[in-house]
Amino acid sequence: MIQLRGIAASPGIALGSAQVIYDDVPQVPHYTVSATDLAGELDRLNIALQRAEADVRALRETSDRQLDDEELAVLDTHLLMLTDGSFLDQVRARLSEDLENVERVLSRTVGEMVYKLSRSPDEYLAERANDIRDVFRRVLRHLLHLESNRRFEVSEEAVVVVHDLMPSDAVSLAKLKVRALVMDAGGRTSHTAIIARSLEIPAVLGVGDAVRRIRDGQRLAVDGNRGLVVVDPDEQTAGRYQHAIRAWHEREHVLLEGASLPAETTDGHRVAVFGNIEVPEEVTSVMQHGAEGIGLYRSEFLFLGRDRLPSEDEQYEAYARVLRESAPHPVTIRTLDVGGDKIAKTIQSGGEPNPILGWRAIRVCLSDRALFRTQLRALLRAGVHGTMRVMFPMISGVEELLTAREALAEAAHELTVEGIEHVDRIPIGAMIEVPSAALISDTLAAHCDFFSIGTNDLIQYTIAVDRGNEKTAHLYDPFHPGVLKLIDMVVRSGHAAGITVAMCGEMAADPYAAGFLLGVGLDEFSIGAAAVPEVKRIIRALDLASAKTLAKQALSLSHSAEITQLLHEQAPEPATFAY
Ligand code: PEP
Ligand code: MG
Repeated sequence: MIQLRGIAASPGIALGSAQVIYDDVPQVPHYTVSATDLAGELDRLNIALQRAEADVRALRETSDRQLDDEELAVLDTHLLMLTDGSFLDQVRARLSEDLENVERVLSRTVGEMVYKLSRSPDEYLAERANDIRDVFRRVLRHLLHLESNRRFEVSEEAVVVVHDLMPSDAVSLAKLKVRALVMDAGGRTSHTAIIARSLEIPAVLGVGDAVRRIRDGQRLAVDGNRGLVVVDPDEQTAGRYQHAIRAWHEREHVLLEGASLPAETTDGHRVAVFGNIEVPEEVTSVMQHGAEGIGLYRSEFLFLGRDRLPSEDEQYEAYARVLRESAPHPVTIRTLDVGGDKIAKTIQSGGEPNPILGWRAIRVCLSDRALFRTQLRALLRAGVHGTMRVMFPMISGVEELLTAREALAEAAHELTVEGIEHVDRIPIGAMIEVPSAALISDTLAAHCDFFSIGTNDLIQYTIAVDRGNEKTAHLYDPFHPGVLKLIDMVVRSGHAAGITVAMCGEMAADPYAAGFLLGVGLDEFSIGAAAVPEVKRIIRALDLASAKTLAKQALSLSHSAEITQLLHEQAPEPATFAY
């Protein structure tokens, strides 16, 4: 029996058998090479190409079952690609121009090619994007001397152990109802963690070497509350975990009983508690957990993990479904926020040197107007089915907000001219998740109807700490005095302009942050389904007058450790359970 430690990323407890997934997309190292190394790099490429070709031939000829015509055609296409002179010439030319290692050059060239093809209106060419990605992944594996991989298939009720997952893969895992997730990479506010929480899959992330230390089929006990994974637990430990699973379900049951009560403090101050969703299927669960609306629908999940962009009609259907199923409650839909750790291969080629600081969110939409226009039209059309608010992510300056608003007005005008039914006046919000936006929140407030503070990014950008990187996870601190000051500033600016201030980052789900957030005057908390009953219960146990004093005290402290201690001391008892 061994015990591995990681980040408690999604609460809950599970026992199950490990299903280890070896990384599907190899991590590509990046280094420069000298001109004299070029011949060696080319040799490595040629050898990897020959090995990949041998693999595909072997698959084609020695498969233990009869391949159908379509499968044979795919393998033949792969063989052609491996010997396609013009593409490989491009790689070779780039190698001598850029003087970078061959894996890096290959993965960038493939990324760009996939991007171009997948946007092609020609169905056949668009489908080739997948083939290129597949076949060159094989070449990369040979270059990096990695074992060949299994397909991304997991059985129901497995505990999935994986190095890293794309957010879109996390959604597919959820559909399979896996028991728990253990991952080497990732932090508490990585998108994979957020999805695991919203789907109530216990998860321990940032373990570092789980894939290396856990063998397929081993029994695992996963504690998502404490960030522990026990490999091959003995009978006594397994018994303790069985008991903990029952206690956890009882806790859930008790919390759900009070879920529909309002979030009103003991002195009668009421705030709204909304739910965050990634896919329309989550609406029911969010509402059952007592949410009074949807405060963040991450619309980009409609764009991830697929080969074609969703059409205007497809988007309209998804937004309308969320609005209809949430009615009469309001829904805040956030426009596309791809980039960073959410790469939509139909929009981005990847490979940016600093994706978190790069081409993401509103920046993508304002430079690809056709893409934005399609989404805005779909949103405006869907708006007739419920109470919709729309907000823009990653606003960093007032020009962006104004340009995004103009694009929305243009889309509405177009629909009017075309005689298509749509909503004309909807509340427009700015997400405050970049420090510059917080600092000019007084100016921004004059141009929108509400703010929603995205603390996941705001903390990452304020402290300059990557939210998805397990190595810097200890520095990621919601109670950093700089973060608290920015939050206070945003609420003040919003209220001075008479607009609502919401928070949809994970900090709003932290039971120890609730007192501070109430105290600075936050109007709306928007959080994952599972956290809704607990946060409502905590708010009901607080009073506004003391929360205001607490917030003032917290803002006067200069050390995060003191603030953390204060907020822990003054918080109502969280719903605990014994195990
Ligand atoms: C945030 O940054 O806090 C947020 C809610 O957006 P996301 O987590 O999707 O980046
Ligand atoms: Mg964000």
